[in-house]
Amino acid sequence: MTRTVLPATAELRDRARAGLERIGASVPEGSGLRARTPITGEDLFGLAATTPAAAEAAVAAAHEAFLTWRTTPAPRRGELLRRLGELLREHQGDLADLVTVEAGKIRSEALGEVQEMIDICDFAVGLSRQLYGRTIASERPGHRLAETWHPLGVVGVISAFNFPCAVWSWNTAVALACGDTVVWKPSEFTPLISLACDRLLARAADEVGAPRDVHRLLLGGHDIGERLVDDPRVALVSATGSTRMGRAVGPRVAARFGRSLLELGGNNAAVVAPSADLDLAVQGIVFAAAGTAGQRCTTLRRLIVHRDVADRLVARLSAAYAKLPVGDPFDPDTLVGPLISTGALDGMLDALARVQALGGRLLAGGQRRLADAAPQAAFVEPALVRVDEQSDVVREETFAPLLYVLTYDTLEEAIALHNGVPQGLSSSIFTRDQQEAEFFLSAEGSDCGIANVNIGTSGAEIGGAFGGEKETGGGRESGSDAWRAYMRRATNTVNYSGRLSLAQNVSFL
Ligand code: NAD
Repeated sequence: MTRTVLPATAELRDRARAGLERIGASVPEGSGLRARTPITGEDLFGLAATTPAAAEAAVAAAHEAFLTWRTTPAPRRGELLRRLGELLREHQGDLADLVTVEAGKIRSEALGEVQEMIDICDFAVGLSRQLYGRTIASERPGHRLAETWHPLGVVGVISAFNFPCAVWSWNTAVALACGDTVVWKPSEFTPLISLACDRLLARAADEVGAPRDVHRLLLGGHDIGERLVDDPRVALVSATGSTRMGRAVGPRVAARFGRSLLELGGNNAAVVAPSADLDLAVQGIVFAAAGTAGQRCTTLRRLIVHRDVADRLVARLSAAYAKLPVGDPFDPDTLVGPLISTGALDGMLDALARVQALGGRLLAGGQRRLADAAPQAAFVEPALVRVDEQSDVVREETFAPLLYVLTYDTLEEAIALHNGVPQGLSSSIFTRDQQEAEFFLSAEGSDCGIANVNIGTSGAEIGGAFGGEKETGGGRESGSDAWRAYMRRATNTVNYSGRLSLAQNVSFL
């Protein structure tokens, strides 16, 4: 199903400008960067990109602010995040508009992304009163052994287009609560939402009396991101994006003994066992595979189905795919918005051609849509392809709505297929058999950072730690104890005995 009417670029430009004005942000019009919308594929504004000298000054300012911020009591730091959360609530609709205009997300997902920002602010307010260390039993009498967590420094946040503001907030809210300051280099595809978030944080900082330079924004391409990668004043580089980007960033940060937190590509799979509730599975699979037009790092890309249920499930999925409304993401009936660029569409069509050449059978979708109405945009029907083997193309992440269906006979075989890819982000099993579910979650089961039962691979809550293994990079962000990556740990030994006793009974002097 395709909805044929798209808004005009001028209308989208006005909508973006109005949202930014309500937020209090202005567009630094200039050259070097362009804001565009994937809804029509056309440009909205020309923007001034950050110069290398301005990037240098921003890191210096954030470092200076860190020297004050690190000694501000953590619960007072939390006040900044409480105020930011309030401003995000107040402007949820404006921010969601910008997410839709720039990233092409449908309305409910754009609102959901802003909700994640609000939720992580709430989390960070609580966290600001819980940055606790442990006391450890000392082997020596009259000694106390403890650990203390201290702010780390400037955190460089590099983010991807597909979660243009939530990923920023996961990093920034936690880093600020931890006493760090942040310099953010967002995706070159999403400068407007970045300007809006930066403005709201600046407003919150002014209102609570926090240093303005606790947060700085750099606009530009990977060359500007590289400034953060190479600067020794940036203690932690938290980089979200493709594995290709992580391969470039990780070793460069390591070469200067900096810390990096990498959140890279996924190639997520779900196993569907014979006992699965197929009604629930179909809903979970279609959302995970086609939601956000297949452009989530946790998007479901491989379905590993027991042979006994494969034909039944595939028939139901094909029917559901045929009814997915593709089109204007502002239209409340649309479920699949545009891909970010025609390059992303080419990547999908190329993967489809490669897998079909290897014998893959296209079961549904895969056709470009709205090419006449918007030749520079990239609307496509989500595709479902049945394959007999996990070939190289299936083992790659194609960042588009392309779901491969494989079949299995034994759970061991399913898990071998599941884990037989270079990435390790998200995973799930649909089953009503508790033994199978527990096996999937065990050390012999899924090798991913996220492993779910009876729910799809996408749509994580902020309360848990988010991230994955292998080529996904190993980083963890957001909830649980992910905050520790943003702090440095000191181990303290305090001798209150009045005499010196050395550890391990060593005697000296
Ligand atoms: P991308 O790798 O093209 O760009 C991501 C960011 O990295 C951008 O800001 C870009 O300018 C910057 N960058 C690229 N090369 C760089 C370099 N050498 N030095 C410094 N900065 C550099 O990714 P994208 O197309 O924007 O996003 C899609 C990818 O991101 C997918 O692979 C997706 O799986 C991944 N992703 C992962 C997560 C996660 O949490 N694991 C979340 C969202 C997206």
